Amino acid sequence: MGGPVIGVLALQGDVREHVAALTGVGADVRTVRRPAELDAVDGLVIPGGESTTMSKLVDIFALRAPIDKRIADGMPVYGSCAGMIMLATEVLDGRPDQRGFAGIAMTVRRNAFGRQVDSFEAPVEITGVDGGPFHAVFIRAPWVERVDAGVEVLGRVTGGPAVDRIVAVRQGNLLATSFHPELTGDLRLHRYFADLVEAAR
Ligand code: GLN
Repeated sequence: MGGPVIGVLALQGDVREHVAALTGVGADVRTVRRPAELDAVDGLVIPGGESTTMSKLVDIFALRAPIDKRIADGMPVYGSCAGMIMLATEVLDGRPDQRGFAGIAMTVRRNAFGRQVDSFEAPVEITGVDGGPFHAVFIRAPWVERVDAGVEVLGRVTGGPAVDRIVAVRQGNLLATSFHPELTGDLRLHRYFADLVEAAR
């Protein structure tokens, strides 16, 4: 295959759905559990799941320093939901011992929507992705409370009690969404990410 090699961090979470979505956009997809597997990929997806658990497993699998280094070297990473939390520099309502990769200069609030309702769906328009709004699925999702200069806001909730909350961002080669495009069969965000990986290669 000529497509970029994209890894899915496969410690925990909805790994299979991201593998399917990335395969659907022509990427050569690998699951990543070991440092040697990380070395072989051009980009990485951090799936939805549970960021506190993922944080522990990243240490147990000795992936923290290797992922930090690849991010510092410019590897594209896309985090959805728990993956967004893992990319944030600051997490509110997290566990004191949870740690991410601090790649995107933003503050996220964990389980933010969950105070009103555990899961909900809403249309979200994403800057740079044509074809109309995403049918965004939020499951105990974080939202972004604050971004530093240098972080591009790509999408916000457009209605309901969480109106205007930031739910998609990009900083350089790092991309994050609060919602789960891998669950709805809409491949446009995975295509956007695969293009980003291809461009960075
Ligand atoms: N609430 C989860 C966390 O804190 C994220 C939920 C999800 O990824 N669907 O990591």
